Amino acid sequence: MSTHPIIAPNLADLLTTHSHLTLTSAGLMLDNVLLTTIADKVGTPCWVLGIGIVLQRLQRIKTAMQAAELNIRIHYAVKANDHCALLSRLGKEGYGADIVSFGELARTQKAGIPAQRILFSGVGKTETEIEQAIGLGVGQINVESAEELALISTIAVRLGKKAPVALRVNPDVDAHTHSKITTGLAHNKFGIPFNDAAALYAHAARLPGIDILGFATHIGSQILEIDPYRAAYARIASLVRDVRSQGLPVYVVDCGGGLGIAYGTDPEAQPEALAHVIRTELGGLDVQLALEPGRWVVGPAGVLLSRVILRKEQGMAVPFLIIDAAMNDLLRPSLYEAWHGILPLTAETMQRPLERVHVVGPVCESSDCFAQNRLLPKLQHQDTLALLDTGAYGSVMSSTYNSRPLAACVVIENNTWEIIRPRQSIEELWHDEIIPTSCAPSTPLA
Ligand SMILES: *Cc1c(COP(=O)(O)O)cnc(C)c1O
Repeated sequence: MSTHPIIAPNLADLLTTHSHLTLTSAGLMLDNVLLTTIADKVGTPCWVLGIGIVLQRLQRIKTAMQAAELNIRIHYAVKANDHCALLSRLGKEGYGADIVSFGELARTQKAGIPAQRILFSGVGKTETEIEQAIGLGVGQINVESAEELALISTIAVRLGKKAPVALRVNPDVDAHTHSKITTGLAHNKFGIPFNDAAALYAHAARLPGIDILGFATHIGSQILEIDPYRAAYARIASLVRDVRSQGLPVYVVDCGGGLGIAYGTDPEAQPEALAHVIRTELGGLDVQLALEPGRWVVGPAGVLLSRVILRKEQGMAVPFLIIDAAMNDLLRPSLYEAWHGILPLTAETMQRPLERVHVVGPVCESSDCFAQNRLLPKLQHQDTLALLDTGAYGSVMSSTYNSRPLAACVVIENNTWEIIRPRQSIEELWHDEIIPTSCAPSTPLA
């Protein structure tokens, strides 16, 4: 099992930057489990998430923060990957959660994460969601506008409570990430404009339903540089000093999420560097710090397994490799032009001669494309492959477009694997649909 077959440099690079993946003579392994076994037993497409890897990555963040002598609470951003299995495991380890909807709040409660450890973010929380969050006693609601602040106060007064609130400030810094995932620029819909934040904080302190705790910020996602964080935290620190100078207490600064990972050849963001910046900019403020990492924690811990349906090459300069996963499973390439590494699953396929192909799914959209002109070993009908770094913003964004059932989900921990969601059945695609009598088929379907 220990032999490392000779493979093409670009594939070898992917293995180097993805240390949780190892290639043995038996095939590609994620955290010591052979991925072909899962593909064969569960079928494809299939999501695989290494929970042990997730825990190691969270531990790395914790260690980095401790080494910088920071006392910081980690609230995993549920929207990156919201499986109950994952959430309950994280809850048991003492982590909190950052949520953006009542659905996510309900999941964390089912998973046993105490409400006190929940941060409720999001630019458009409904009245019902706010009521439910206050009712359940969530630890902190991050408010994104003056209008929302007023609404929360009214609801809390009606419930006879005070809502614990932080103001999410838009620091107007450019995180140099993709335009569809940046959130910290003045023209983005997120957060309270920096110049309004101090006055709104003073106003919040006077509202009867609000227990004002401090400030929050989140400047975007897949951030690979540390300087934008420095700029954002410097602005938040100046706000803290400003409102304190007006005699208002500040207890909390929530530093957000957004750390980027190594999809391609870019090196991933280092939590140690983030810890250093937090320490420098916010370390002396005597506030409870919080972090909301999502992608960095779960992204590299997941792969999407797929199988080649066919090669379409007749008359094509570059052949199409049509695989059984599609944009309804993994949306990121269609939505953000995201790049995902692709590796064949067996040592034998890994060593075949290389060719350039377009890797596409079967969905009837031209944007259903995973990779263009990708150099891969020559793959054929039935060969299996893994799309890398799909643990974050992968299965959570799936749909059943083209009436394609949701793919199966598997977790790996302690060298074994387990199904946490079976592949959706065909009947489940329409089980909650109602057919009015006027539409009913004249001869009932079998
Ligand atoms: C999405 C989101 C996060 C997590 O972002 P990642 O890039 O996955 O780390 C954290 N906080 C808020 C408010 C978010 O919207």
